[in-house]
Amino acid sequence: MIVTGVAQREAWQARQFPPVEQVATGLWSVPVTIPDSPLRYTLAYLIHSDGCVIAVDPGWDSDTGWQNLLRGMAAAGIAADRVTGIVVTHAHPDHHGLSGRLKEASGAWIAMHAAEAATLPARLWQAGGGEAGDRGWLTRCGVPADVVGELTFSDAQEGPIWRMPDPDVLLSDGDDIDLPGRRLRVVWTPGHTPGHICLHDADHDLLLTGDHLLPRITPNVGLAPGGQGSPLGGYLASLRRVRDYDSAEALPAHEYRFRDIAARADAIADHHKARAEEIISVIASSGRPTMWQVAQQLTWSRGWAQVTGFMRRAALAETAAHIAYLEEAGGLITRAADPAGGDRFQIAAPETIGMNG
Ligand SMILES: [Zn+2]
Ligand SMILES: [Zn+2]
Repeated sequence: MIVTGVAQREAWQARQFPPVEQVATGLWSVPVTIPDSPLRYTLAYLIHSDGCVIAVDPGWDSDTGWQNLLRGMAAAGIAADRVTGIVVTHAHPDHHGLSGRLKEASGAWIAMHAAEAATLPARLWQAGGGEAGDRGWLTRCGVPADVVGELTFSDAQEGPIWRMPDPDVLLSDGDDIDLPGRRLRVVWTPGHTPGHICLHDADHDLLLTGDHLLPRITPNVGLAPGGQGSPLGGYLASLRRVRDYDSAEALPAHEYRFRDIAARADAIADHHKARAEEIISVIASSGRPTMWQVAQQLTWSRGWAQVTGFMRRAALAETAAHIAYLEEAGGLITRAADPAGGDRFQIAAPETIGMNG
């Protein structure tokens, strides 16, 4: 992998805030702070053409973040009220959080993939049956009764995440973003979320990768309660898909810019295959474990004891995505409902253990 965002990586390593940078004609990279997060910032992108301005992933909703965004616009010579459109790669709060404030300041439309609109937290919560549905899901995962309360939200949840705005424009794979004089095409890359998109700037051969492809970390691919099927199969297909853009420079939403998209996509796919192998061996050696028991035995970067609070929920969702993938991919794992606790898992056919492709 070749790092092209050299100043960004230096800032990352020095734990400083990276600079606003002009990456190409009419395209700026603007770091927007994420409070209390090891990710530290989102890289928003401003794209300017023929008097129109598109903001991609404006960032987390905070006053500091808003100031970051305004400073980036000033550096790019753009007033906030000049923004004509907001495109989010996906509806996570570190990307879509500031969309509402920016829309209010500018009157810009908000666009996201059609599949993403249903994943806005308030909608997802409803679709999963609210608090009762969520507790039911955690119980089926085998989470002990005294821990369930730590991992769920209440129906009375308030806050900016739950008020993130609906889109005005629904995007589909292959659509061109409405930006006169510049080709910016939607590449649907489901996995990290169902409606995640990358954006390809064909004239400058740039691929805005959102969270789909990051240079250093692998994005969480988790199965949301009420979610259908495994998102991991889709994610692996989306990784194969972006290999077609290997000539492009990757403009990610976190960390720093890089090249060698195909090699990075392959490395992330290998990480997930190794994870799936690990899950198979944990299930094979632990005698019909629950999802929760599997999650506890997997290797986590700082050890399970350091996976606390809502990080446990993300760990559980990641484990669930892998298990659902292994259930679907050739039936390597089977599930048996256990009325006394969570669903139990076992290896379907021990003699065929192994991942193909
Ligand atoms: Zn995300
Ligand atoms: Zn993100």
